[in-house]
Amino acid sequence: MSEFFSKKYASLEPYTPGEQPRDMQYIKLNTNESPFPPSEKASRYAYEEAKKLNLYSDPESKVLTEKMAAYYGLEANQVLMTNGSDEILNFAFMAFCDDEHPAAFANITYGFYPVFAEIDKVPYVEIPLNEDFTINVDDYIGINKTIFIANPNAPTSIALPISEIRRIIESNPNNIVVIDEAYVDFGAESCVPLVNEYKNLLVTQTFSKSRSLAGGRLGMGFACKELIQDLNTIKYSTNPYNVNRMTGAAGIGALEDDEYTKANIKTIMENRAWTMEELKKLGFTMPDSMTNFIFAKHEKIDGGEIYQKLREKGILVRHFTKPLICQYNRITVGTKEQMEALINALREITEVSL
Ligand code: PMP
Repeated sequence: MSEFFSKKYASLEPYTPGEQPRDMQYIKLNTNESPFPPSEKASRYAYEEAKKLNLYSDPESKVLTEKMAAYYGLEANQVLMTNGSDEILNFAFMAFCDDEHPAAFANITYGFYPVFAEIDKVPYVEIPLNEDFTINVDDYIGINKTIFIANPNAPTSIALPISEIRRIIESNPNNIVVIDEAYVDFGAESCVPLVNEYKNLLVTQTFSKSRSLAGGRLGMGFACKELIQDLNTIKYSTNPYNVNRMTGAAGIGALEDDEYTKANIKTIMENRAWTMEELKKLGFTMPDSMTNFIFAKHEKIDGGEIYQKLREKGILVRHFTKPLICQYNRITVGTKEQMEALINALREITEVSL
């Protein structure tokens, strides 16, 4: 830390992103990206748009926003496009949390929530999950806080049904409930249609997973128009051109190529089912996944050891050191070939270790 770094950030512990090895020698199953390239239209539109990079992007991302709104049958003023969903999550912490509205989220969830709370100087509480990693909905009833729920949750892969989310929203009418749907396309039910019913609901999503655009950085929020207006106040006070030209164009292409996205989702879900069965045969246990990753632990072998041995065999998964989950690894579901390589490696590891 330099002598110039502001004291107000002195104790900030930044978010640690998953490793991005530069040599591509690894089978990368550690950051929940899609193993499939962006759609043909997404790449082509981005390439064409690159020729106009001398000009700023449209601060309203009008064409993309209208297309996104139409996708869910909403008005354009109910949608805000952002630089990844991380950006809209940060906007939500800035816009809707303060001393009167502290943040609340699970003790095991997306690791960026406490970092946003810290950098935005917002008080927060972490609510323990049940022992089986499910959310105890009663813990969120009438708590008078700005609630953040990843649904499905990460890294646990478990989803809450909409009826339970409704209970949480309805019991906290004076606070915003943010439902982070980064992984919703892989089998859970989306809350986006509920934004027409509840003025205290914000739903966030991303193009990083099912739409193969993690490197483009494109996310979005859905809410009533008043909340979107608030979020725009934050956006225009920080980074009006938050969605760059190429990414905006790629997003339009991805939406036009929705069949491609749907086919990839189907493949990932099939590969997930296959991998879960194979993992069980090798002695792993895991919650039923509604995401593009599997949260698995071996009944006998230490989670850190499995992570390390996979790494030595050229396969990267995500290992967390938090004591409650340190026996688990989060494994991104990739192509069938990648999953076969993973299972072969784990077969060797379990045979040697036992
Ligand atoms: N929410 C959750 C639960 C996530 O796991 C991630 C991905 N790391 C994000 C949000 C942010 O994704 P992105 O900024 O790429 O949209």
